[in-house]
Amino acid sequence: STFDGDDSGDLKPRQTPGVLYSKAIPTPVEKVTLLAWSEELARKLGVQKPTEQKEIDILGGNRVTDTMYPYAACYAGHQFGHWAGQLGDGRAITLGEWEAANSETWELQLKGAGPTPYSRRADGRAVLRSSVREYLMSEAMHYLGVPTTRALSLVATGEPVLRDMFYNGNAAYEPGAIVMRVAPSFLRFGNFELLNARKETDNLRKVVDWTIERYYPHIQGENKVLDWFAEVVERTASLMVEWQRVGFVHGVMNTDNMSILGLTIDYGPYSFVDDYDPNFTPNTTDLPGRRYAFGKQPSIAYWNLGCLAGALLPLTHKDQLVAALESFQEIYWTKYYTMMANKLGLDGLTTEKDVELITQFEKTLAAVKPDMTIFYQLLIDLPLYMDTAQEVADHFKDALYDELSPEQSELLFTLIATYLERLNKNTIKRAESQQRMRETSPRFILRNYLLHQAIEELEKGENTLFLKLQEAMKEPYSDKFDEFFQTRPEWASQKAGCSMLSCSS
Ligand code: AMP
Ligand code: MG
Ligand code: MG
Repeated sequence: STFDGDDSGDLKPRQTPGVLYSKAIPTPVEKVTLLAWSEELARKLGVQKPTEQKEIDILGGNRVTDTMYPYAACYAGHQFGHWAGQLGDGRAITLGEWEAANSETWELQLKGAGPTPYSRRADGRAVLRSSVREYLMSEAMHYLGVPTTRALSLVATGEPVLRDMFYNGNAAYEPGAIVMRVAPSFLRFGNFELLNARKETDNLRKVVDWTIERYYPHIQGENKVLDWFAEVVERTASLMVEWQRVGFVHGVMNTDNMSILGLTIDYGPYSFVDDYDPNFTPNTTDLPGRRYAFGKQPSIAYWNLGCLAGALLPLTHKDQLVAALESFQEIYWTKYYTMMANKLGLDGLTTEKDVELITQFEKTLAAVKPDMTIFYQLLIDLPLYMDTAQEVADHFKDALYDELSPEQSELLFTLIATYLERLNKNTIKRAESQQRMRETSPRFILRNYLLHQAIEELEKGENTLFLKLQEAMKEPYSDKFDEFFQTRPEWASQKAGCSMLSCSS
């Protein structure tokens, strides 16, 4: 890295003005045991699966080689809409950068490898529960085709970590674990916000120039800051469309959790939507405001981009920056409607009526609350002629959590009747329409309750479900793992007091 910074290696929590990162050596753990390894990612990077303990030790921070320069980055952020000041990598330590055979470079980062100067009052550790969730879900998102950071390995530390259990708020020890996560860069909006807040304009310019040169090399010329910001807007808008497509709810869209590359980053209390609900938030810390609810994600992304724009003000013209920010709306909605047209198997967005149909889908699903994933799968095989509300309800019964009320039944029937009318006007063949739908809507998603079950098993030393999920997530658009093709069981519903997670993991 070309950043300059504090080189002392002191881990004492502190403010670090003038500094972009601090040296932070991982704190060794009891015993590093390899629990999972991402074979496909390893091949892409050109690394072999470690077999000897001294190699495995690297994945748990017990060994740092001469070629590594472990550091924690300094960033700030807006958390739940409020300026939070300096945050930084409190439990993530970058070991260095790895160059793959195709000359792509990847940052290798350990999450949970002990305190850094940015740990504040926390321990710098991660528990098995949250580490399994990050490991599996970041890889699952990759296979879903959603831009994301990735995970190479998951190790147990052999050390207990004290945490508030998410069900009841009581403190308890949980097994510790460490994920090695991998991305071209882990830079966040918050890295830029920090430098602007500190009025360190020279550092800000340096980091912006470096980011463009390294990660956006096609952007050059005197307008490059503006052009770059416009591209960050575009990537972020695209990412939001992808999240809405698969029903992913991040849960903590603070600006320190927004990737400058438009990747999904920082897997915490995320969840997929089970029963369709735009107000669904998986994060207990997000109640009662529901700032990070499913339906709000695009507007929050826009708000977060506004924070980034604010941070870039010293480097460029305000009016043009605002114009680039405002382009979010047009970009988002264009991409969103295109995605939805594919989800519905339409030949395109032909008239204003198609947009109305999409809105009708959103409203009806919010009222009927079917399982989002199963609903869109059942939609693929919809009979082209349906005469009664009962027929429609029967077709979708495997997606329903509750008996339909007469009003819900009527809404669903009206929607499907309108939809079938439109489908019958499609200029593409039915098979092609269905193909588009299959490519746009996943059939297998890593539901929270499945993760929960896999984690409970792992805590008892059993990895059957974990391994099965690891295979299933690689083919989310196929029906190969239809043993998981069912609605969330009743015991795992929010009504049953489950499936909510807090930030503290
Ligand atoms: P998050 O909500 O996970 O994005 O975390 C917000 C901030 O808290 C980041 O600066 C994290 O590095 C820090 N943090 C979260 N958990 C821990 C932990 N166990 N130890 C140290 N820092 C943490
Ligand atoms: Mg974070
Ligand atoms: Mg986090």
